[in-house]
Amino acid sequence: MHSQNLLIEQDQQHVWHPYSAIQSDLPIYPVKSAQGVHITLMDGRVLIDGMSSWWSAIHGYNHPVLNQAVTSQLQDMAHIMFGGLTHQPAIDLALELVKITPEPLQTVFFADSGSVSVEVAMKMAIQYWHAKNQPDKKKLLTIRYGYHGDTFGAMSVSDPDNGMHSLFNNTLIQQLFADAPNCTFQEPCTTADIAPLESQLKDMHVHIAAVILEPIVQGAGGMRFYSPEYLQKVRHLCDQYNVLLILDEIATGFGRTGRLFACEHAEIAPDILCLGKALTGGYMTLAATLATRDIADTIRLGEPGLFMHGPTFMANPLACATALASLKLLLNSPWQSTVANIEQALRKGLQVCQQYPHVKEVRVLGAIGVIELYEAVNLKTLQPKFVAAGVWVRPFNKLIYLMPPFIISAEDLNSLIGAVVKVVADMNP
Ligand SMILES: *Cc1c(COP(=O)(O)O)cnc(C)c1O
Repeated sequence: MHSQNLLIEQDQQHVWHPYSAIQSDLPIYPVKSAQGVHITLMDGRVLIDGMSSWWSAIHGYNHPVLNQAVTSQLQDMAHIMFGGLTHQPAIDLALELVKITPEPLQTVFFADSGSVSVEVAMKMAIQYWHAKNQPDKKKLLTIRYGYHGDTFGAMSVSDPDNGMHSLFNNTLIQQLFADAPNCTFQEPCTTADIAPLESQLKDMHVHIAAVILEPIVQGAGGMRFYSPEYLQKVRHLCDQYNVLLILDEIATGFGRTGRLFACEHAEIAPDILCLGKALTGGYMTLAATLATRDIADTIRLGEPGLFMHGPTFMANPLACATALASLKLLLNSPWQSTVANIEQALRKGLQVCQQYPHVKEVRVLGAIGVIELYEAVNLKTLQPKFVAAGVWVRPFNKLIYLMPPFIISAEDLNSLIGAVVKVVADMNP
């Protein structure tokens, strides 16, 4: 117990955490290990994981197949520079990604985080139009409640209010925003839903390089689910107005919404696709930006004939080998029925929360369950309640949400849902 208190003290003095302050009075829990869907804290408590470490750990923790992929790649090399050199793990992973993503996507740029893959996507779109002698097309158009990452380019296309654009007023690129659609996943997309984006495209297309969106599920910007028909209309408008479409599937990719990629709900393909998070099954940081042959060729044939980006740790072999193993694990599993079963359990189990006066809405899609409250949660009091109930759930703002590892057993899933429902019920003022 003493050493745990010391750890926490040292952490609070010296270590930053995501969206937090040094010397924060919010609770923090040292983790000893994680296995399957179970997180063991240093104090011995074991929690059922409801977060998949932010969409990533789809196969759970400490998976023997992924462990093996890491250790066997380690025998060859942990890393090697990617300038002028290449390797089997990167090539195999690129070919696999090309194979499983929509057909027009034929080229892969590896980066080390989701945010960077979004920066790369934005730069590709701008360089594409530059190479086509249309350098005025350099703005990005997006919708509100989006989240695309924390670097400056990614931040510039994330929700202006959630992303505190006011704080970075003079440093952020000014992009174009349209109101988000109100149609839910099940509803048709009305003229009113698409009108805001359509009018921006109509008025501004000569300045717009690309539209960037999270397909179907808007994640960290609000956990909103919208109609596939909206996405179809966006694709159509992008073609009509000569604007590229970037889809950010960093959160939705690899089965989470019930399709391998969320754009499959709408049967459309983007020109540029961003992947990350679950790409390595949560083992290592790796992201990818896929683009069409036309984009790659146009950039090659234009000025300066190169794409201007190249991370030090590009295509890290350990990460690529692990990603390949994670993809095989997923594709060789009955993931469609696994996700469908999680969806059914979430729907059935969370529904009761709908009746609580402090709950605005319960919504479920694939292996994502969301309880939206009327008021923002108090993490300081709420987080310990989830931990005491034996589950790891990390709410933000008005949202309590679950996206468990796909490998969760029916029993653990019911315990997770039961604990969450009980904590939410007890919040009742
Ligand atoms: C998490 C996320 C990002 C940013 O990825 P990082 O790896 O955190 O940089 C970008 N877009 C979406 C949709 C995300 O969910």
